[in-house]
Amino acid sequence: MEKTLFIIKPDALSKNFLGEILDEIQKKGFKIIAMKMVKLSKKKAQNFYMEHKEKPFYKPLVEFMSSNPCVVCVLERKNAVKFLRKITGATDPRNAKKGTLRKKYAQDGRHNAVHASDSLKSAKREINFFFKKSEIFLWKKKRYPTLLHRKLKISDG
Ligand code: GDP
Ligand code: MG
Repeated sequence: MEKTLFIIKPDALSKNFLGEILDEIQKKGFKIIAMKMVKLSKKKAQNFYMEHKEKPFYKPLVEFMSSNPCVVCVLERKNAVKFLRKITGATDPRNAKKGTLRKKYAQDGRHNAVHASDSLKSAKREINFFFKKSEIFLWKKKRYPTLLHRKLKISDG
């Protein structure tokens, strides 16, 4: 099953949106197979966003991402990379489609609530950037008793 990296950024965490965002992710059919709260050092934030080194927003982006903790997750789903990007929405929430995470939870083009890997290649790099193999949990097919009164609805975006 395809994997991607998802980050709930410091702005969303500080506004207590973590629960709501994870709830949406799970209801859209993603399985959380790894998760941790981390406060990035400046160096780690610089390395993570290395591709943007020459951009004018690089320095403030690094400041922002290292200002407070993030929650970092590995998500698994069919077509995980593309689908997560779709429900994340455009970088600037003003351009994000209605119903996307950034439309709902982002402040502006920098403080935009969440990160989602932009390709399979980036997903691989970004997952390895944050997680050791032993920190990623591959679930065994095991059936636990179902709550008959509360079937989880999976939507397709
Ligand atoms: P993403 O893949 O949609 O997250 O966007 P990018 O990879 O282009 O940029 C990485 C992050 O840098 C974004 O999520 C924003 O937090 C920040 N960023 C990108 N473009 C801008 C910009 O034009 N201005 C500011 N202030 N921040 C930006
Ligand atoms: Mg990007």
